[in-house]
Amino acid sequence: MINVNCNYCGRDDFELVNQGADLLLDRPGEFRLVRCRHCGLIYQNPRPTLAELPQHYPDDYQPYQRTLQKDTSVVQRLARSHEMNRRFKHIQHYLPQPGKLLEVGSSTGQFLIDMRRRGWEVTGVEISAYAAEYARENYALDVTTGTLESADLPSNQFDLVTLWDVFEHVLDPTSTLAEIRRILKPGGYFIAGVPNPACIEARIFGEYWVGWDRPRHINLFTPTVFENYLQTVGLELTAIKSFNGRLGVTLMSIEFWARAHQIPPEKWQRWTKLAYSPPLRLLTWPLYRIAGAFNQTSIMTVFARLPAEQDAAACD
Ligand SMILES: [Zn+2]
Repeated sequence: MINVNCNYCGRDDFELVNQGADLLLDRPGEFRLVRCRHCGLIYQNPRPTLAELPQHYPDDYQPYQRTLQKDTSVVQRLARSHEMNRRFKHIQHYLPQPGKLLEVGSSTGQFLIDMRRRGWEVTGVEISAYAAEYARENYALDVTTGTLESADLPSNQFDLVTLWDVFEHVLDPTSTLAEIRRILKPGGYFIAGVPNPACIEARIFGEYWVGWDRPRHINLFTPTVFENYLQTVGLELTAIKSFNGRLGVTLMSIEFWARAHQIPPEKWQRWTKLAYSPPLRLLTWPLYRIAGAFNQTSIMTVFARLPAEQDAAACD
């Protein structure tokens, strides 16, 4: 673990947000999140070094799950394909024609398979050797093992670069964004799904909110902080939308809270089951829709664009 300054403004002046154990994977250690008093970035301090990171991402880490084509549960398959369709609907709004896509943190390849099926030319970069190989072996996907920086991709290449649940894990968001800007074509889009620490559930659940995910989440961005980051590299914020991070995410925060308060599993599991029942899902659906409209669900998706050359010329 090393002490670090704020990645956005470089200062070393912070206040405590929360600290505690790894609630998701129960791995040993105590971790701390702080907020920069100047720019508002929330970051882990001290944070794991690059060499220490892999120990916090075992091969059975849930995002490295099998692709939905190999998921044995019908309900899970439906839920996951619904999620893919929802992402695509929003992408299509900005990019109606297929083009070249890079997914950073492509995991086992689910999103890439889906986009390839829709006519996109797809490439992935994935830090987990296990997940990257899974995508190559099972789906013949073009996935490089490593980080975006180590992949050393050619400039001016992609119509779309996506990071789904990944940007909060990178050690140096400034250099990652600069690299994304370099490889995007003018007029191309950058889309990132990240936890929103300014959402209502972060306030309700406090330190048990699932979005903190110490020690894997290195930086957390409010919408304002994210927009500041985009500006520093010359990307234009197009929209922030909150269309996922609903009931399943809320239930995880409830579970973290219940476990910390020594509530026996059979008790909270009964509640979880009830919450997943169709009538309750139906009841909560409008609530999440409303929360989403105000960017108050746990996950926000940021859409940003590299201005096209003619836009730049028009500004002169
Ligand atoms: Zn700062």
